[in-house]
Amino acid sequence: MGNFEYLLVWIALPALLLLGLLAAHACKKLGLSLHHLFSPGNSGPHSHTELNRIAMTDALTQLPNRRAFKQQLEAAITRSARQESMLAVAFIDLDDFKPINDAYGHHVGDEVLQIVAKRLGAAMRHCDLVGRIGGDEFLALIEDIKSDQDIVPIVERIIHSLQDAIHINHHEITISVSVGIAVYPKDGDIDRLLISADSAMYHAKGAGKNQFRFYDKEMGIASDRLLEMHQDLKLALKRDEFELYFQPKVDSKSFEITGIEALIRWRHPVKGSILPSVFIHAAERFGLMDRINQWVIEESCRTLHRLRSMGIQVQISINLAAQQFRDPNLVANIVELLNRFDLPHSCLMFEITSLMALNHPEQFNTKMDEFREAGIDIAMDDFGISNSSIAYLKKVRQLKLDREITGKISEDRKSYEMTDALIRLAHALDLTVVAEGIETEAQSRLFRQLNCDMLQGYLFGRPVSGEKLPQLLQQARNAVK
Ligand code: C2E
Ligand code: MG
Ligand code: MG
Repeated sequence: MGNFEYLLVWIALPALLLLGLLAAHACKKLGLSLHHLFSPGNSGPHSHTELNRIAMTDALTQLPNRRAFKQQLEAAITRSARQESMLAVAFIDLDDFKPINDAYGHHVGDEVLQIVAKRLGAAMRHCDLVGRIGGDEFLALIEDIKSDQDIVPIVERIIHSLQDAIHINHHEITISVSVGIAVYPKDGDIDRLLISADSAMYHAKGAGKNQFRFYDKEMGIASDRLLEMHQDLKLALKRDEFELYFQPKVDSKSFEITGIEALIRWRHPVKGSILPSVFIHAAERFGLMDRINQWVIEESCRTLHRLRSMGIQVQISINLAAQQFRDPNLVANIVELLNRFDLPHSCLMFEITSLMALNHPEQFNTKMDEFREAGIDIAMDDFGISNSSIAYLKKVRQLKLDREITGKISEDRKSYEMTDALIRLAHALDLTVVAEGIETEAQSRLFRQLNCDMLQGYLFGRPVSGEKLPQLLQQARNAVK
């Protein structure tokens, strides 16, 4: 070797080594070994197959991904159409997976998904297919069935397979799933079938979770309506179609107005006034509630500013949206708005529900501390018998008893005693108590007997528009004088 060749080797060797290292790193990322790329038997078509496999596989669970599942479903539909047989798609969604991620971290969340994938695979027949289409959503393809009844035992096995607790790093995690089922050909072709299974799954969730539902035509109408509402809601924000109504909370002894609750209404250009129970669920689902409630807070500040310029001082309570709980800047933004409208922080109170706290256990404590530091009070709303936890009462200033309780107070002695104990507990924790949905004199009398601090309900006034609010507050003030 001459000097020149030596020089070439010295330059080329490190470069080749570097190239080798880079290739090894890239292969590791793709899940391939160098052997795969460089062994003669694996060159050409085989490496292509391998890359194709990777593109069709969900990296976390090794199940077919959405693309692969759709391809297999298409092939199965073609077979089914030829043989005039039926097949089913099951949309499987974990109930409350987010709190698991929030409480134990993403690593544990990932392990839970891997275990779920294994258990689902084991619960299915060999001829069926399970895929993961993202997040906590899985799809199952069940072929060669004669009737809906053939699907039931398979779906029951799926639900049952997830009932045993999962143990990870000394944590015992319990999970459940909601399953929606759509059947080919009656519930649609490929795309429609997946949408149908999805809306059946939402009905299963709405019905209390850990259940399954078959798709039916009514759901189709409901899901079409939901899509239409999505479009309308987006326009509503742009066209400023929301409006705030206000309902008084009165002192149970003096009947003086101690605060007002802001309640949103949607003035739909064609459908008229729409109540929040009709659109809030859809707005949450489409991720629009954050912006809508931001508008509610701003409008409430504007109203307070106007009232104060008329010499009227009152506190407005605003219902927080679940979505806002996840916003790390929530309290800072509220404080910024209060400052912009030159309002004391005590002018606003926010109402949350136990469910929000339950679904966001980590954010709950942080948020409560942030609100306290900012001098803004929090009320626990809709406190009733279901979905309520007394554990969260330590962190709030006000307890609002739901109609579930107030409506039953005169039904029997036990309801009365239970309400009495609840009010005493709240008082022992230094909370004020509001009874919601008071419609009759009898209810009002009983809650006064039990030392409930405030009353709210149609008996003392239905929600009124922002326009009528000053008049309502003035009249109330004059009446007390
Ligand atoms: P909520 O916060 O518990 O509000 C009380 C609901 O009970 C209101 O219904 C009110 O109109 C109604 N109500 C008051 N007194 C009586 C009564 O004596 N009898 C009966 N039957 N009902 C009474 P609305 O305005 O339809 O609101 C329903 C729910 O929607 C609210 O329950 C709250 O959870 C939610 N919501 C309302 N406005 C907003 C908002 O701006 N943002 C968010 N995130 N949620 C809101
Ligand atoms: Mg409320
Ligand atoms: Mg309530």
